[in-house]
Amino acid sequence: MEEKQKYDLVVIGGVPAGYTAAVKAAEYGYHTALVEADSLGGTCLNRGCIPTKTLLYSAELYEKLKNGRIPGVSAENISCSV
Ligand SMILES: Cc1cc2nc3c(=O)[nH]c(=O)nc-3n(C[C@H](O)[C@H](O)[C@H](O)COP(=O)(O)OP(=O)(O)OC[C@H]3O[C@@H](n4cnc5c(N)ncnc54)[C@H](O)[C@@H]3O)c2cc1C
Repeated sequence: MEEKQKYDLVVIGGVPAGYTAAVKAAEYGYHTALVEADSLGGTCLNRGCIPTKTLLYSAELYEKLKNGRIPGVSAENISCSV
């Protein structure tokens, strides 16, 4: 039989705001649960802001190297894997 637990606070969403709130509440002594249905980090860390900026940076660097647009730098056999 499942054991039921009681919490003072349940935070829904393992995102930066969510886990910061959960950690802070635990530090203040509240019995806290953090619930995440998918991946810790949420949209920004897993699919949105961070991956997007990384891909944009890679694409920009690839384009500059391929077209010799970085002064003093030349490169051969440039490839892109994304
Ligand atoms: C491609 C892309 C690029 C972006 N770039 C930027 C940018 O450069 N700058 C910027 O400011 N914003 C950007 N954003 C927007 C930004 O990612 C979102 O505004 C932000 O992530 C929203 O945060 P949130 O905590 O409200 O929701 P989310 O990050 O979506 O988090 C919600 C979380 O709650 C969980 N959840 C939901 N319901 C439940 C449930 N019932 N039980 C358990 N868990 C649940 C979900 O699984 C998810 O992990 C971008 C978004 C995308 C898609």
